[in-house]
Amino acid sequence: MNRTLYLSLMILVMSALAIGAAYYYRVSGNMLGSAQVYVLPPLLYGFDALEPYIDKETMRIHYTKHHQAYVNKLNAALKEYPEVSKKPLEYLLTHTNEIPEAIRTAVINNGGGHWNHSFFWQCMTPESTKPVGVSKELIEKQFGSFEEFKKEFNRAALSVFGSGWAWLVLDKKGSLKVIATANQDSPLTLGLIPLLTLDVWEHAYYLKYQNRRVDYSDAWWHVVNWEQVEKNYQQSEK
Ligand code: MN
Repeated sequence: MNRTLYLSLMILVMSALAIGAAYYYRVSGNMLGSAQVYVLPPLLYGFDALEPYIDKETMRIHYTKHHQAYVNKLNAALKEYPEVSKKPLEYLLTHTNEIPEAIRTAVINNGGGHWNHSFFWQCMTPESTKPVGVSKELIEKQFGSFEEFKKEFNRAALSVFGSGWAWLVLDKKGSLKVIATANQDSPLTLGLIPLLTLDVWEHAYYLKYQNRRVDYSDAWWHVVNWEQVEKNYQQSEK
């Protein structure tokens, strides 16, 4: 057997094996009905990147412990419900009545926790950004000025009793609203499209700011990713 023929034969055998393995994996995977497994999204900046406004240790614990715990508990809830798990998280949070009752609260809390945190990390950046584009114009138009918007957002952040979030959202008519939500409730469930959010759970600020949520929310404006807010607005148009 010459060398070329031998190599061709080997390539053929290897390809057949690879195709066979992929097919077996797909079929057996389907037969097992394995649930979709959620993972932490990559953080696009270092834990210390938002210093001094948000400290490294808070970021590390918030991302690797708190967010990870929501991901783990979401996976645990969906484990026995592979069909439910195959629906996108956004779908589940906008159609909570379709979630089986046995896991509904767990999915709302932990799916909401996963979605809210994934969104929150993107709302921040170490780069210094300024409000831009259509979202900037809308903010100025609807709240009177950027300063007025900021005041209203800070008020919402302070108004949360216990744990929750402050949001800038777009309603179905395309108007901007500032709202507060409790626990890990999602604006998606209310039919609203999030553009910007601030986590006001104590775990988000206690190490550095202790009880001073107002100082935390004031400082946070330095790290808001306005380019992302505009991206979120442009996305909502689609
Ligand atoms: Mn949090």
